[in-house]
Amino acid sequence: TKENGGNSYTVFQQEMAEKQVLRFEIEHELQKAIETQAFDLYFQPKFHSFKRNITGAEVLLRWNHPERGFIPPNVFIPIAEESGLIVEIERSVIERVMACLADWDHAAESAIPRISINVSVSTFLQDDFSAFFCDRLQHYNISGCLLELEITERVVMQNETKINMILQQLRETGVRISIDDFGTGYSSLSYLDKLKVDILKIDQTFIQHIQHNQTIVAAIQSLADNLQLHTIAEGVETEEQLQKIRSLGCTEVQGYLFSKPLPQADFEASYIEQIPA
Ligand code: C2E
Ligand code: CA
Ligand code: CA
Ligand code: CA
Repeated sequence: TKENGGNSYTVFQQEMAEKQVLRFEIEHELQKAIETQAFDLYFQPKFHSFKRNITGAEVLLRWNHPERGFIPPNVFIPIAEESGLIVEIERSVIERVMACLADWDHAAESAIPRISINVSVSTFLQDDFSAFFCDRLQHYNISGCLLELEITERVVMQNETKINMILQQLRETGVRISIDDFGTGYSSLSYLDKLKVDILKIDQTFIQHIQHNQTIVAAIQSLADNLQLHTIAEGVETEEQLQKIRSLGCTEVQGYLFSKPLPQADFEASYIEQIPA
């Protein structure tokens, strides 16, 4: 009835208003969280799908809020993106990771794993992003070869000339570029031929239902082979998924089957071999 319609509309409006308030509050608190360095870096290792040795690790942000408790990145990252705070947050992640790498580089006995960092569209498109990145590498006296930047298809859908220029400048440092959540964007595939990227991260939704998505994953793998790109499968949780992925030719995996994202200290204890004192 009309009356019911009106009611549900009011309820809807009320819910929207509450969401807006929460958003506003979180945005305000994000600002404080930046100032107080309230974000923790977690590291999720990546592994060779056959040899099962570590090949790298992805940094994932965790926000443990003093009152609200744990706020997942899927909640605060979009708010940070809309408010523009993401640029400051991600630049600080880049700095912190580089500082870690510099420490590990001094202390580690053997090769240290390459660390990948998620970079959002607005951070990547800042006019001085590549200059910032190069400058910080010099400051920490490390090679870009120790790093990887994970960007999404939203980035490569932007102005091709501009993206190409940024990628070119970044490549000179040795940093690798991967396309995150590959296969879920709505972009055309033609950019893969024009823009120099290194890795396709096959989205975890394909891996979760690998039995139904075999054809798609096989197509992504052969596309990558033809373009001489590397692939990694995300969100691998079971041995069955691992077997299937291996049979399709994908040689790198990340997921709960091998390891959850770990607090920095745990990651270091397990994967950074220290020179004995
Ligand atoms: P993502 O970049 O696709 O990261 C992978 C997400 O999948 C992570 O969730 C990770 O914990 C989770 N994951 C890993 N293995 C498995 C698995 O086997 N099964 C399942 N079900 N999940 C798995 P998380 O840490 O909650 O992060 C969610 C998203 O938040 C990330 O998705 C990324 O888009 C974003 N994010 C996190 N940190 C940052 C950051 O520093 N910058 C930006 N721009 N985004 C970030
Ligand atoms: Ca990622
Ligand atoms: Ca992903
Ligand atoms: Ca994702």
